[in-house]
Amino acid sequence: NLGTRKLRLAVAGCAHGEMDKIYEVLAEIEKSKGYKFDLLICCGDYQAVRNYGDLHHMHVSEKYRSIQTFYKYYSGEKTAPILTVFVGGNHEASGYLSELPNGGWVAPNIYYMGFANVIRFAGLRIAGLSGIFNGKEFNRGHYERPPYNEHGDVVSSYHVRNLDVWRLKQLRPADADNTSNPIDIMVSHDWPAGIVDFGDRDWLLRVKPFFVDDVNSGKLGNPSTMQLLYDMRPRYWFAAHLHVGFAALVPHVSKDGSQEAEPTRFLALDKPIPRRHFIQALELDIADDAEMKLSYDPQWLAILKNTDNFTSISRSNAYLPSAHSSERWDFRPTEEELAAIFKLGDLTIPENFQQTAKPLMKDTPESRKAKPSPYYRN
Ligand code: 5GP
Ligand code: MN
Repeated sequence: NLGTRKLRLAVAGCAHGEMDKIYEVLAEIEKSKGYKFDLLICCGDYQAVRNYGDLHHMHVSEKYRSIQTFYKYYSGEKTAPILTVFVGGNHEASGYLSELPNGGWVAPNIYYMGFANVIRFAGLRIAGLSGIFNGKEFNRGHYERPPYNEHGDVVSSYHVRNLDVWRLKQLRPADADNTSNPIDIMVSHDWPAGIVDFGDRDWLLRVKPFFVDDVNSGKLGNPSTMQLLYDMRPRYWFAAHLHVGFAALVPHVSKDGSQEAEPTRFLALDKPIPRRHFIQALELDIADDAEMKLSYDPQWLAILKNTDNFTSISRSNAYLPSAHSSERWDFRPTEEELAAIFKLGDLTIPENFQQTAKPLMKDTPESRKAKPSPYYRN
């Protein structure tokens, strides 16, 4: 007999290091609408650059190689006014993010989801996948870490790996009607390839005519994540990367045409430039007494544990069992496996942010000579 209330969610497309601008826009919306946002989700190209050294670890053209504003939130000069969660894209402080493969705080109140993750907030389950698709790297382990070699490791470090997609596929619900464990929100940087067919394709090709070949050949986006969408059936899927706002609705129907689960509402957002669809405000029903802190997702922890043997930091192709394998291939946690996770107790994500590189206190000509920070391990 508990009541419900609205969670105020803001979703942003590619952030490109414009934290100051984004929080300013959100403050204006809060003022005009008379509410406060509870959570901000950023869909990649976040650019968590701590200092000038980190700029050496970001794959970007010289024109865009700029310190931007994240460093102020890292040094403590500013504090993120809204709890912020993000996935990685293809323009990131890749050296810094490689310190947090399973996610973690990159600054107070700013949480990076790692290569793949599921976290909880206010009773909602939020899944994420970082990076963009590239066939060459898809089956490899996550082998890249600073110091990056000269053969493009800083580029391949943000390419999506099958291991992470496969782990997320273990979230598929046990029951056809998706009531056992719905994922509320999925976040990725590139779009699931094929999603365009579920929205206004003609409009998209009018505003982005150079997408036509890729759309027609089904190659616009990540070819592995449309199946993930069908398996996972999230209520919402947010993405960015193509610098255009685009909505789609994907039904989940069985072979006889009956609806098996709520359709997935897909929304892609633009980058932070004026008059573009860069931010979307959403309201979601949550319980009155919902915990407004991030916590680990028990099922995801069980999946990580079940599939830990397959973690690879090697450049060679990683083996993953499939339905044709003689060994276990379905890693959806059993009751016992989940019970072992619950024994861990409180799953609230601790607010344990730590600086692992020298913060930039003042943007001076001297500070611009900084060398990349060494890879941090404890
Ligand atoms: P980024 O900001 O990540 O460097 O680049 C995003 C831009 O690259 C988008 O605006 C889009 O024009 C282009 N782009 C990214 N992926 C694709 C793709 O698969 N096909 C096409 N045609 N363009 C793409
Ligand atoms: Mn991008």
